[in-house]
Amino acid sequence: MTVEPAPVNHGIKFLRTDIGEDAVIEALVDYVTTTARGTTLEKGEVKISTLEHLMAALSGFQIDNALIKIDSQEVPILDGSAKPYMEQFVAAGIKDQGEPRKIFTLKEKIQYTNESGCEVVLMPDDDFSVDLMLDFNSKVLGNQYARFNRNTNFVTDIAPCRTFVFFHELEPLFQHNLIKGGDLDNAIVIVENPVPQSELDRLAALFNVRTLERAPEGYLNHLELRFSNECARHKLLDIMGDFSLVGVPIRAKIIGYKSGHGINTQVAKKVREAYLNSLK
Ligand SMILES: [Zn+2]
Repeated sequence: MTVEPAPVNHGIKFLRTDIGEDAVIEALVDYVTTTARGTTLEKGEVKISTLEHLMAALSGFQIDNALIKIDSQEVPILDGSAKPYMEQFVAAGIKDQGEPRKIFTLKEKIQYTNESGCEVVLMPDDDFSVDLMLDFNSKVLGNQYARFNRNTNFVTDIAPCRTFVFFHELEPLFQHNLIKGGDLDNAIVIVENPVPQSELDRLAALFNVRTLERAPEGYLNHLELRFSNECARHKLLDIMGDFSLVGVPIRAKIIGYKSGHGINTQVAKKVREAYLNSLK
């Protein structure tokens, strides 16, 4: 995958080089099809999946125009965060294209609650900010909170936060081919209750990891947390990625409670509608 510069008003687009020169899809919420374990866009035969962390990196770095060339459907998950993308953007540098950014200022509150009690609210505000709360009804991952506002350093405080999975989800995911050996390198694993070492050894063999232990805080020991609330910060990263699919930077306060890609993109669709209406 390569990220290339693009002219003013180009927006963010993906080109599937393995399909052909015309296999382009705009990074817009209009094309979201599925949101299970990541956000997927589809336009005809052009499909792009797990783009949210790359999109968050682009939006966090205020990159409005880029052409992403990719030779397969799946955007690389790398370490499960946006850090590797961010490092490449920092190394490559960003060019000011000399045009004022188009920004959509939300005029009316948009609120959505789903049947699982997840909620995303956007309030008009003169700045962009996110307040994120998660609550997994879990001893290890109960209430956790993260914020993003103009004082937050996206590069150091949000981009490095990795995705997470519960220990009891690992084996079903493995059996359904949704994760594979080696994938433990790019996710925090939450272990609710002590697990017999024999069980951990069995999973270690399945995932090709030398040894697995449950750390006292309730996480698997194969990686160290980058922040005590890394999971909430990651959900915030996901929100930023999903809302960048509105297609224009937004000025609003986003409040996410138990949010995920499904509800994020449903609300982002409403925001895009409001944006398109504002142009009429
Ligand atoms: Zn994510």
